[in-house]
Amino acid sequence: MEPKNQQKNIVVIGGGPAGIEASRTLDSLGYTVFLIEKEDRLGGHLARWDRLFPYGTPAGDVLGQMTASMGRVKWFTGTEVTQLNRLERGYNIILSNGMSVLADALLLTTGFSLFDASRKEEYGYGIYDRVITNADLEDWFSGIPVPAIDSPRRIGFVHCVGSRDEKVGNRYCSKVCCATAVKQACEIKEKFPDAVVYCFYMDLRMFGRGYEDMYLEAQKKYGIIFVRGRVSEVSEDKDGHLFVKAEDTLAGKPLRVTLDLLVLMAGMTRNTAVAPIVRALELSTMEDGFLKPKDSMTQAQSSYAAGIFYAGACTGPKTIPDTVAEAKAAAMSINEYLRDND
Ligand SMILES: Cc1cc2nc3c(=O)[nH]c(=O)nc-3n(C[C@H](O)[C@H](O)[C@H](O)COP(=O)(O)OP(=O)(O)OC[C@H]3O[C@@H](n4cnc5c(N)ncnc54)[C@H](O)[C@@H]3O)c2cc1C
Ligand code: SF4
Repeated sequence: MEPKNQQKNIVVIGGGPAGIEASRTLDSLGYTVFLIEKEDRLGGHLARWDRLFPYGTPAGDVLGQMTASMGRVKWFTGTEVTQLNRLERGYNIILSNGMSVLADALLLTTGFSLFDASRKEEYGYGIYDRVITNADLEDWFSGIPVPAIDSPRRIGFVHCVGSRDEKVGNRYCSKVCCATAVKQACEIKEKFPDAVVYCFYMDLRMFGRGYEDMYLEAQKKYGIIFVRGRVSEVSEDKDGHLFVKAEDTLAGKPLRVTLDLLVLMAGMTRNTAVAPIVRALELSTMEDGFLKPKDSMTQAQSSYAAGIFYAGACTGPKTIPDTVAEAKAAAMSINEYLRDND
């Protein structure tokens, strides 16, 4: 640890996995770190998840490990940036708690928003009670009551909701939702062993170590039925059951099933809460609204502006291991920047 680093302030905006990991790493390098989180708890989306793919690791354990070693990081929850001014060297940042910080570098770890599934009206989210999202199901796994889940006997999962979809302006793949669907399908089958569970997918994107095993287990151990094809329409009968129309593109024929529960795999979209910061700092965004790094190959953690860096899902969909790796890389990029500009 270099003692002179303590004289340098770094402000990290966003207290999810990326912000926490980057703050810890910068702290271990000796910098004075201010971590700003707008919600009343640290953890970002990780704090909402129950178990993580591909191995079923409890999300609370991962978050607990991360937050157990925050060192001297000064973190503030329920706090936002109210004003940001660029100085000749660094930035003046005023917070909603009245504090003002002169930052030598700024790291944005503002993450993503979950796609608003009610925008896909054909699936009936917000219209039919028994249509829920992947995030609602995580809540239920965590012990939060979800009235729609009442001993379902036939359950469907719809992949690619709000991703790979020109109509909603999101052409990209959200990367995490195939694995989430397979994980959740197995978990719900454990809770309701007699249930028939379908996954309606376009392509299955199960990359990396442990993912293929999870997919094989879903078929062999849990008997999940994978149907290649898009759900085209959902309606409700008078008893509240869902009538789902889909196209089985492998069999080349239409499919109609009646379900008790439909889970929509809402994807990852840009976080609109970062818009005032983007405007104040004149940062570049991509056509889908995620923050645009300077160079996606070798400088993925750098912005176009001096002293501003990015990590995690603010630049696009990421898994937690990707996010943690990026956070460490961002800390190293900041370290190099401050050393070169000393
Ligand atoms: C349904 C679902 C399940 C998933 N399950 C898994 C899994 O099992 N395994 C896995 O590896 N990955 C999983 N992921 C992906 C995982 O959630 C992300 O990789 C991770 O949350 C990204 O971390 P982040 O810190 O970049 O963003 P986030 O988790 O979104 O955190 C960003 C934080 O910044 C805060 N923030 C935003 N704007 C501001 C602002 N202006 N001021 C202050 N604070 C701000 C937010 O409140 C939030 O706390 C899943 C994703 C989804 C959608
Ligand atoms: S990860 Fe799977 S469900 Fe998610 S957008 Fe990509 S293909 Fe669709």
